[in-house]
Amino acid sequence: MTTTSTHTTPFDVEKIRKDFPILQRQVNGNPLVYFDNAATSQTPKVVIDAIVDYYSRYNANIHRGVHTLSQEATDAYEKSRIKLQKHFNAAKAHEMIFTSGTTHGINLVANGFASFLKKGDEVIVSAMEHHSNIVPWQMLCEKTGAILRVIPMNTEGELLMDAYEELLSEKTRLVFCNHISNALGTINPIEEIIEKAHRAGAAVLVDGAQACPHIKPDVQALDVDFYVASAHKMCGPTGIGVLYGKEKWLNELPPYQGGGEMIAEVTFEKTTYAGLPHKFEAGTPNICGGIVFGVAVDYLNGIGFENIEEYEHELLAYATKELLKVEGLKIYGTSKHKTSVISFNLEGIHPYDIGTIVDKLGIAVRTGHHCAQPIMDYYKIPGTVRASFAFYNTKEEIDALVAAVKKAKAMLG
Ligand SMILES: *Cc1c(COP(=O)(O)O)cnc(C)c1O
Repeated sequence: MTTTSTHTTPFDVEKIRKDFPILQRQVNGNPLVYFDNAATSQTPKVVIDAIVDYYSRYNANIHRGVHTLSQEATDAYEKSRIKLQKHFNAAKAHEMIFTSGTTHGINLVANGFASFLKKGDEVIVSAMEHHSNIVPWQMLCEKTGAILRVIPMNTEGELLMDAYEELLSEKTRLVFCNHISNALGTINPIEEIIEKAHRAGAAVLVDGAQACPHIKPDVQALDVDFYVASAHKMCGPTGIGVLYGKEKWLNELPPYQGGGEMIAEVTFEKTTYAGLPHKFEAGTPNICGGIVFGVAVDYLNGIGFENIEEYEHELLAYATKELLKVEGLKIYGTSKHKTSVISFNLEGIHPYDIGTIVDKLGIAVRTGHHCAQPIMDYYKIPGTVRASFAFYNTKEEIDALVAAVKKAKAMLG
């Protein structure tokens, strides 16, 4: 494990909070309570400093120049790729493709699969996906005539694994599922999903956007074909993410975008593509983002994913217990296997109104369908209030949320 951070166990949340400048600010006259971590995480000073350092000292285009700045930037960018390789335990650095984020990674794979699928082939999605892990596959099905099948879920917000097994057949080409649901917090049994898909001869893409802030996936142990994540949910900046793909798949997949950087040779008669990872990284990438993604991953590893999991679990248990004391409050997503996301509603009150009132008290929660409308349709609700906790949140902040929810109930109920 990398330990560039100064933190040591035991977990010291007050010390950790000092790493995040934004946590010092006030919102509407109250200290900020940031509970929208499932939408984007906050940024520690080491990452902010690394961004300033890049633009202050070695901003240059990569892989092209012989000059010093370009070489320094290229080195840092490629070192960061290796950091990601180690973090995800990929066999090879060139299996890590820099993307602009999870959505981009999924589209890259979906687009590539268009040339593998034919009419009548089947692809399987879960009932609890983010729109970005639904729409690209619908587009793929429209293009190819493949059929989209859906793994149903139960009221706890768990996938029905028996139904999944029944959906699998020799027609199944690809299964895509999130590792953790952003709307419900459910940790899906992806080991089992992957193993069963492989037995049926299908490939699997796991959307890890919501998992990577909480756990450290091992892509080789999972034997997953594709795994995608976004830096901005992992204490990094927006506009950068990673797609892991098994080398064999990445070699077979056609490139997603054409342009500079991704070619070996170009003439007007024919272009040959560059090898991995450059084949999928056309144009000037988010160089600074790629470099500081590695810094963010180091920061998280410095705190330690075991510490993060344990502490966040404590927050989840405490918040669940305290929120359920509010009369008329219902939590959606009650699986035993879940991370620190609580989606809830107050009887007879629109989630948006709760969100507005708690914001007046400095508390940031998300309201709406959380880019997962099929889940809301399943529960027959327009949306929920979602409070999602990170390792820099505290029980005192949860107390503030519970008090604010009670106040909203008194005002609106
Ligand atoms: C956030 C999220 C996405 C989309 O990530 P982007 O960074 O917006 O591309 C996809 N899936 C899940 C589960 C997410 O939580």
